[in-house]
Formats: sequence, C-alpha cells, structure tokens
Amino acid sequence: MGLEAAIPVDGYLTTNLQRVINWARRSSLWPMPFATACCGIELMAVASSRYDVARFGMERMSFSPRQADLLIVAGRIAVKMLPVLQRIYLQMTEPKWVISMGACASTGGVFDTYAVVQGCDQFIPVDVYIPGCPPRPEQLLEGIMAIQRHIDNEGIPPTGPNGRRVPLGIVVEPTHSVRPQPVGLTVGGA
Ligand code: SF4
Repeated sequence: MGLEAAIPVDGYLTTNLQRVINWARRSSLWPMPFATACCGIELMAVASSRYDVARFGMERMSFSPRQADLLIVAGRIAVKMLPVLQRIYLQMTEPKWVISMGACASTGGVFDTYAVVQGCDQFIPVDVYIPGCPPRPEQLLEGIMAIQRHIDNEGIPPTGPNGRRVPLGIVVEPTHSVRPQPVGLTVGGA
C-alpha cells in the first residue's frame, strides 16, 4: 500500500474518526447499475481492464439495492420502468448517491415522446449529471470522483431544512479529446 514507506518504523498516524469514516465510505462505493440502453455498454467499459473502476473500490457492482449506495442510471427510462427505478432507489441504503449517465437519463435525449421520462431527476434526486450520447467511460469516472471529493469533505449527502435530500447537481464536462479516425495502420513493422 505504500504506507510502510511513509510511516517510520514503530511510527504512528493520527487522524480523527470522521476522516476515517469518510475515507472508508469514499473508497467502497458499491454501484447499483440501472442500465436500460446503450449507455450501459459504456458503463460496462469502466469495469474493464482499460478503465478499471476497481481502482476506486467500486468493482463490486451490486444487483441488490440493499447492498448498494451509488445508483447509476444509464439509458432511457420508459414510463413503465419508472416505478421500478423509484423502488430501487428507495431500497438502497443510506447514505446513497445517484449518477445520471447520458442524455437519455438526464433529459430523455432524442426520445421526446410520451412513453419516455424526460429526465430521471424529476423523480429521484440526481447528484451528478454526465452529458453525452453516450458519455465516455472517462466521464463516468470523473463523475464518480466528484462524489468521492464530496464525501471526503462532507461525508454524507446534504439535506434541506425539511429533512429532505438535496441533490448535489454537479455536471461533468467532457474531458476527452477524440482523435481523428481512422488512425494510421502499420502492418508487420512496415
Ligand atoms: S444517451 Fe445515447 S447512448 Fe445513452 S442511452 Fe440514450 S441514445 Fe443510448
């Protein structure tokens, strides 16, 4: 872990309990993937070796809401699916967080129809919006790190005077520059 090098032999560290709790929380977010469409493929990509969400302590995708604390909504939400999404959110453990991934989850995207929810934030509190159609895995990682930074500083989600959950409302900006395609191909070192 590198701690052995940082701490002198027979040394010790001092900290406070709240900081340790925050550190443990931010290092063990367990995602509940709610992937209903193509954004789900980018969500799966963050678990691959190239992006490796395990670096953030998040490789344990939970398909049981009671053992999850980060809901990732990836894809369009049909009106028929909305009660399922709400029930999953309610069943998740506190403190819990929500990421809305992609244009469809945040706004309905191109599906401007009566059958598609025009933004899941109308029904559940959304902490991080990730734009794009689809967003890149790097953007999802950026969104996860935004929640981790909040946990580092505050620990738990904010609540209003009435005790209701206040969404963080963070919007991730695209940070990935797309390279010109197709890239040059070299065969056999020629
Ligand atoms: S935002 Fe684009 S990629 Fe994501 S679910 Fe909607 S149509 Fe698919």
